[in-house]
Amino acid sequence: MNTAYVLLGGNKGERLTNIEKAISFIEKLVGPISNKSKIYVTAAWGNTNQPDFYNQVICVSTKLSAIALLEALLLIENKLGRQRGDQKWQARTIDLDILFFNNDIIDSPDLKVPHPYLHERKFTLVPLAEIAANFVHPIFNKSIAELENECSDELEVNPLM
Ligand code: ATP
Ligand code: CA
Ligand code: CA
Repeated sequence: MNTAYVLLGGNKGERLTNIEKAISFIEKLVGPISNKSKIYVTAAWGNTNQPDFYNQVICVSTKLSAIALLEALLLIENKLGRQRGDQKWQARTIDLDILFFNNDIIDSPDLKVPHPYLHERKFTLVPLAEIAANFVHPIFNKSIAELENECSDELEVNPLM
C-alpha cells in the first residue's frame, strides 16, 4: 500500500459539492481515506480577480502507482467538469494535486512529487499541517510545521466552519 497526500481545491460552481463529489470518486477509484483536514477558504492565489478557493487536504491509501494516481485524479477532474484553458490559474471546479507520495521524489515532465510549490502556499500548508504537522518533506528535510512557520505567503487561510 502507498500513502498519498492530495490537495483538493476549487473556486467555480458549487464549491462544497464539488469537493464532496471528488472525495467520493477518490474513495471509489483510489482507495480509503484515512484522514481529512477541514475545508479552508482562501483568496485566489496568483490570479486574484476571481472567487475565493475552498481547499482541503486528505491522506489516502492506495495500491495505485504515483502515475496511475495522477491519471485517476485527472479523470476525476474531468468527471467534475474541469475545463483546461490556456490561462494558468483560472477559475476551476476542481483541482486535485498530489502533494506527497510515500517519501518518493519524482521529477518527470508529467509528475513532480513532492508538489513543487507546496512550501510556498499557505492554502496548502495550513490544511496539510492540520493532519500531517510532523511529516517530513523528503527534499527539504523539514516538517510541515517548520515549513508553515517559514512560509512568507500573506494570504489568509480560514476554516470554512
Ligand atoms: P500548480 O501546479 O501551480 O498547482 P495547476 O494545479 O493549476 O498548477 P494543472 O493545470 O492542474 O496545474 O496541472 C497541469 C499538470 O501538472 C497536470 O496535467 C500534471 O501532469 C502536472 N503535474 C505535475 N506534478 C503534479 C502533481 N504533483 N500533482 C498533480 N499534477 C501534477
Ligand atoms: Ca494546483
Ligand atoms: Ca493541478
